Amino acid sequence: MSDVLNLVGVTRRYGDGAAAVTVLKGADLSVAAGEAVALTAPSGSGKSTLLHIAGLLDRPDAGDVSICGQDMGAEKSDRLRTRMRRREIGFVYQFHHLLQEFTALENVTLPQLADGAAPGAAKARAEMLLEAMGLAERMTHRPAELSGGECQRVAIARALANGPRLLLADEPTGNLDPETSDKVFAALRRVLAETGAGALIATHNLELAGRMDRQVRLEQGRIV
Ligand code: ADP
Ligand code: MG
Repeated sequence: MSDVLNLVGVTRRYGDGAAAVTVLKGADLSVAAGEAVALTAPSGSGKSTLLHIAGLLDRPDAGDVSICGQDMGAEKSDRLRTRMRRREIGFVYQFHHLLQEFTALENVTLPQLADGAAPGAAKARAEMLLEAMGLAERMTHRPAELSGGECQRVAIARALANGPRLLLADEPTGNLDPETSDKVFAALRRVLAETGAGALIATHNLELAGRMDRQVRLEQGRIV
């Protein structure tokens, strides 16, 4: 199977001189198409740093980043990186960042319209994604009318709206209780199977991490 994400020797430092901290020290990681990989490590280990580099939101100081087999290295233009990010990468954060004045269905439809999709097709895809996330009965609700776990499930559907081949999630259940986290992870697995996207999911919940296809740990700046 082809890889949707390849990180080779990724290094990232913050600050300089005596205050410099090297957070990533040659991290290697691949995610295959259709594979769900959990990234575990305690807080402050560099999970967010790694996801931001994988998501082309940040650049490494050294090392290679490829998305869907295309090199996105340091010398590549911002335009190319932005286009790749829009087309092939979906991002989910700890807090859902949904648009409050729009319904769940609209939150998942709008990114597709912005990307040039036909309204009918955009709505059909949004419905498919929300159904896969177990939200068939919640489509016309606004974020304020949904629970935290439901909002996060909408955010995952939205991240997959434009058919990215890579989903990156940064502690998507970090502010949810265990039972709700469980439901979100189960729905996430379902929607990944439905869309065929590969995923890298940062979490410090080892139990939930154990339900993904594979687990990797970030330790001393490297993937082990
Ligand atoms: P995690 O997501 O695993 O909690 P982070 O990637 O957020 O870890 O952070 C890893 C380390 O890098 C932490 O020590 C953090 O303080 C530091 N760090 C993160 N972002 C910055 C930044 N923009 N400037 C300086 N230090 C940072
Ligand atoms: Mg983090």
